[in-house]
Amino acid sequence: MTQLPSSAQRESRELGPTWLRSTVFPLFLLCCCPPFVMLLWYTHAQLDGSLLKLGRVLWNEGLTHTLAQIWLPRMFGSATAWQLLGIYIAVELLLLRFLPGKLVYGPITAKGHTPKYVDNGVASFAVTIGLFLTCSYVLHWFPASILYDNLGDILGSLNLFALLFCAVLYLKGRFAPSTPDHGLSGNPVFDYYWGTELYPNILGWDVKRFTNCRFGMMGWPLLLLSYAAKQHEVYGLSDSMMVAVGIQLVYIAKFFHWETGYLRTLDIMHDRAGFYICWGCLVWLPCVYTSGTMYLVHHPHHLGTPLAAGIFGLGVLAVLVNYLADEQRQRVRATAGKTTVWGKPPKLMIGHYTTEQGDKKENLLLASGYWGLARHFHYLPELAAAFLWCVPALFDSVLPYFYFIFLTILLVDRSYRDDERCAKKYGPDWEEYRKLVPHRILPGIY
Ligand code: NDP
Repeated sequence: MTQLPSSAQRESRELGPTWLRSTVFPLFLLCCCPPFVMLLWYTHAQLDGSLLKLGRVLWNEGLTHTLAQIWLPRMFGSATAWQLLGIYIAVELLLLRFLPGKLVYGPITAKGHTPKYVDNGVASFAVTIGLFLTCSYVLHWFPASILYDNLGDILGSLNLFALLFCAVLYLKGRFAPSTPDHGLSGNPVFDYYWGTELYPNILGWDVKRFTNCRFGMMGWPLLLLSYAAKQHEVYGLSDSMMVAVGIQLVYIAKFFHWETGYLRTLDIMHDRAGFYICWGCLVWLPCVYTSGTMYLVHHPHHLGTPLAAGIFGLGVLAVLVNYLADEQRQRVRATAGKTTVWGKPPKLMIGHYTTEQGDKKENLLLASGYWGLARHFHYLPELAAAFLWCVPALFDSVLPYFYFIFLTILLVDRSYRDDERCAKKYGPDWEEYRKLVPHRILPGIY
């Protein structure tokens, strides 16, 4: 059995300093999230997106009976769902492996591992969308609405696949880790939930890049196109659907343009490959992130051109500002500060830290531009974009805003987690930085 390395113990303490946070909270999420996605899908697909109807069903049938009725028939998916998933996974694995691109390096880990990636995100995104549209609209192999029509079975299959896959990852990190960044906390619940490896690799495929970028993020636009196709089939395509799908396609295209930047974010540098991030990207993302648009399928609001164009324009602007903020921080580090920020030399601080091996290192901390407004200002345009692709559903129900509400909680929590992590890493330098940039997310307010 692998010895307890200090990083695993530290991560367990970071997320779970008490029994409640390291066992009860993970157990709660493990038990609640998989059935929740089935319930969310069911409410949209079978109950007309009505929380009132869901309340009535739950009141009359009880939670356990309702869940059993929804989930049991779909627990093992269907032949169609497994075929769709099998083909999709195979195509994405092949594109990830064989599409050419520049070789880029991720940040060196505490244990001295430097991840390597081929930068082929934009090409994979274009080929995936092109293949889906060609196979559906040119070759007529399947209707584009196929994903919406089989969503219950797809989520059933995905839940099963992802829960088993996380068990495989747990065992792999324990018995056959790919890099030195692995280990156990001593609490199997926490280890299954949080993962046992930072950079697992299976047969040459980087697991987290696959689950996060090439499965979750890449599936998102296909689901959106399928939802739009379903609405088109039943009611004709509404401008509200076009706006919601349009903003998200811009956001996802931006993501793949910046994919190598994403490979330097907390999800990849810090979060291990376990239930939290892998199940999240394999099941939660396809269902919850697309739920606002899933709601629109049977609620085809007509916004009119001025309102539709206004929402779309603001959505694209929010995506752009979020991108520019991420780009600013990464450009400053990549050029060792020899660049400009909003037309001026950047205001910089040096964050000193010591690696687990005891090596002294330093990083630049940017304190001007977007990063001088607040320590996590970039979460604001992220939230604004999410709100703007939910708002075409107007205000009949709170359900289409579920993703926005979830994201708000996620990002506020993330800002605390990141502050805590940076305070531990940089010590007094982070305190200095906090004095220079005192606000967390909302400039001047919070
Ligand atoms: P960030 O990109 O904000 O990265 C945080 C890290 O950046 C810190 O841990 C620190 O790492 C470094 N850092 C912090 N402050 C500074 C500074 N002033 N100057 C230079 N470096 C700094 O983290 P996220 O992963 O949270 O966000 C990345 C993107 O992903 C954002 O656009 C966000 O909106 C988006 N996002 C989207 C989510 C979604 O579900 N839709 C969820 C989460 C994020 P180091 O150790 O290198 O110093």
